[in-house]
Amino acid sequence: MAKPIVAVVGRPNVGKSTLFNKLIGQRLAIVEDTPGVTRDRIFGDCEWQNHTFLLVDTGGIEMGEDDIQTHIRHQAQLAIDAAECIIMVVDLRAGVTAQDQDIANQLMRSGKPVVLAVNKVDRIGEPPMELYDFYSLGLGELYPISSVHGHGTGDLLDAVCEHLNFEDENDQEDERITVAVIGRPNVGKSSLINYILGENRMIVANEAGTTRDAIDSQVDNKYGSFVFTDTAGLRKRGKVEEGVERYSVLRSLAAVERSRVCVIMIDATVGFTEQDSKVAGYAHEQGKACIIAVNKWDAVEKDDKTMDVQRKKLMNDFSFMSYAPIIFISAKTGQRVDRLFELIKYVDSQNALRVTTGMLNELLARATARVQPPSDKGRRLKIYYMTQISTRPPTFVCFVNRKDLFHFSYQRYIENQIRETFGLEGTPVRMVVRERG
Ligand code: GDP
Ligand code: GDP
Repeated sequence: MAKPIVAVVGRPNVGKSTLFNKLIGQRLAIVEDTPGVTRDRIFGDCEWQNHTFLLVDTGGIEMGEDDIQTHIRHQAQLAIDAAECIIMVVDLRAGVTAQDQDIANQLMRSGKPVVLAVNKVDRIGEPPMELYDFYSLGLGELYPISSVHGHGTGDLLDAVCEHLNFEDENDQEDERITVAVIGRPNVGKSSLINYILGENRMIVANEAGTTRDAIDSQVDNKYGSFVFTDTAGLRKRGKVEEGVERYSVLRSLAAVERSRVCVIMIDATVGFTEQDSKVAGYAHEQGKACIIAVNKWDAVEKDDKTMDVQRKKLMNDFSFMSYAPIIFISAKTGQRVDRLFELIKYVDSQNALRVTTGMLNELLARATARVQPPSDKGRRLKIYYMTQISTRPPTFVCFVNRKDLFHFSYQRYIENQIRETFGLEGTPVRMVVRERG
């Protein structure tokens, strides 16, 4: 079920982010309309030959105060830890540099498959002689590309896909619900896991993850069977050096990718921060079922209005995921952790909900009668037909006469009608618009 992760690495200015944007280009149009979460994007789905993988631009990951050399090493290490295959980008015009060799050596030692992209080969035709210099990196086959124009990216993607394992794609649904607990450092993620594990006297399942060796924790209780993904790092905490925090971005990203439900944890004593919405943005964009868990509720001084006030504020802060239920918990005392399990089950089922085409089109007829579709210069939007094409998350395709007339606000209106009628609580939904003459 989890998509393989592919990471783009290389020294600054070789064209990583240009390549990244080119490769996830088409996909963006569908999910772009989410304010606040798509800026400085570092990951996105890449579709190629009926396969989908998650592409990560390590160049976009912030690393704090490192000098450039350390910075590059850290990025490469992130890629090695999280990715199933690595695209190393070098710059034809700059030639082979010592930094390139350094990265290449580090990647080779890891044993991970590496595909070498020689970028800025803008002219089609006879490959320039300088290209062959890059064989000296010892990474085997070269893939000349132009990230700006897109030349050569097809062969590159073919090579990448040969290294990926897509076996999972058509897997039967697992009975077990995979859950990622994500959030900023110190919000209480490991405390919650420890509480749950203590309570349930659980089995620690050492499962080889699809992307790397992650340790998952299985919990069976009266609510069902759950697997908390990537909890190894959580439980080890304390012994692990400080520097490890910088890895948390990619760690949580990988954990989100491997899960069906994301529990986005906020610290009640701190309140909302920008970083919280970034973390939540991963889950939203990946179409995961989401719950916002406000932890350390025991430590908050409160009266009978505090919860309502906080809830309202959070709904505003997380307006891009207004579908996510908000729960106030304490990992310390265990308050409402039972309820959290109920919610996890519930949002997971909503994420897999199927609505029949008949019901959707009845809804469409009612909705368009109540609020007229937008028009421009005498042409009015017509929505001919709507059908659900997939689940996790529920994805609907609308066939319309003119795409440009189907404004965001009207899409929102239709989405809200769908939600009002069918629930879909705790899950993002996607709307794909297709024109039909
Ligand atoms: P990054 O630091 O590795 O992410 O590199 P960027 O993607 O920011 O690109 C660095 C510079 O190289 C930018 O000015 C890009 O426009 C340029 N660039 C990237 N790819 C190509 C390419 O295929 N051909 C040419 N001519 N320039 C490119
Ligand atoms: P993580 O970095 O998100 O895994 O956070 P930790 O689980 O390590 O918790 C960070 C700190 O918050 C620790 O000192 C915990 O004891 C404390 N903490 C975690 N959950 C709670 C809670 O529900 N209530 C209170 N009062 N403290 C908590």
